[in-house]
Amino acid sequence: MRNFFFALAIAFHVVFSNGLQAAMTPLEAEIRRLIVVDGPMPVARYMALALTHPAHGYYVTRDPFGARADFVTAPEVSQMFGELVGLWAAAVWQRMGAPERVNLVELGPGRGTLMADALRALTIVPAFRAALDVHLVETSPTLSARQREVLSGLGVPITWHGDVAAVPEAPLIVVANEFFDALPVHQAVKASDGWHERMVGLNGAGRLAFALHPEPVRGLEGLLPPRIRAAPAGALFEWRSDHVAGELARRVVRSGGATLVIDYGHLESGLGESLQAVSSHGFADPLAAPGDADLTAHVDFAALARAVERAGARAYRPVAQGDFLHRLGIAERARMLKVRATPAQAATIDAALARLTAPGPTGMGDLFQAMAFADPKLGALPGFDS
Ligand code: SAH
Repeated sequence: MRNFFFALAIAFHVVFSNGLQAAMTPLEAEIRRLIVVDGPMPVARYMALALTHPAHGYYVTRDPFGARADFVTAPEVSQMFGELVGLWAAAVWQRMGAPERVNLVELGPGRGTLMADALRALTIVPAFRAALDVHLVETSPTLSARQREVLSGLGVPITWHGDVAAVPEAPLIVVANEFFDALPVHQAVKASDGWHERMVGLNGAGRLAFALHPEPVRGLEGLLPPRIRAAPAGALFEWRSDHVAGELARRVVRSGGATLVIDYGHLESGLGESLQAVSSHGFADPLAAPGDADLTAHVDFAALARAVERAGARAYRPVAQGDFLHRLGIAERARMLKVRATPAQAATIDAALARLTAPGPTGMGDLFQAMAFADPKLGALPGFDS
């Protein structure tokens, strides 16, 4: 009898894994084709295709947010998050000398919730609201359509762009929540002759598999912080292009302004892999279902600071999200919201407050960091150490 069940289990396994193979995502078929015709691709290119391929990318084909979707972001937890970010922007605008027109730019606005809550809160700062041109940088037509729905009728001019470079030049305030973690990462592994880039190729069975480039990445060694350079053979290092950070830094210096980045990651550049696939609130193999799972990698805040400082901006030391939101007055905001709330609503507000600010595994309070970079003339920024 036991053998029978064992045989049955194996039969199921075979059918199931063949089933999985047969259910290859359309994007996996396209990536396999690209590898056959062009050769293995860097992990960064694989990640870019998985997230933003124009027909099959994860963000292009769906709205991934919400309790029943793949993951929940801070603006989706509570309106307090977007409201406080909006008021942060108003305070920055005042520090900038309250220019008559200012671009409020959001990178990767998702469902548009943060911006909608920010604009609603900003009715208490009418001069800032009247000075605003909102620019949304979004690659996904599905999410842009959703943003258009949520943000229409709020009385502020809004323009969409596929790339920050297309935002018109003007004094600017930029916000980016969980955007940088979605930007592609490169990976390289240390060997005796240098760092070899990790590639995605095909294994003997024709399936997607990691492999190292035979040649070391020329010049990489010289760009690495000394501690990383001294890593033992086999160590893995991840880095991102500084295209977006550099472009924003040059703009805040040239035209005046500041950028707020909220994301999860590490404060010092470190070794080890952080690339992961997230699907239905769980972790999955990054190569298993390209286009069907979210891919993210930690933000290296030290590398981000180096990139913006190279472009002449001032980088502010990251502050844990919980501390940042408390400094902006989230506890007071929660109290105000509870004044007219039913007991059930009050409990929801308390739960959201805890979720956004609590440290440790139950909250986002110290998992996420707030970081800013700005025109060095601005001086102290709300929420950050001066
Ligand atoms: N800020 C939102 C969504 C975060 S998810 C929130 O906090 O809820 C990442 C967002 O960035 C999505 O809107 C996604 O479509 C967008 N995105 C990802 N890669 C991008 C890229 N390279 N250029 C522009 N937008 C991108």
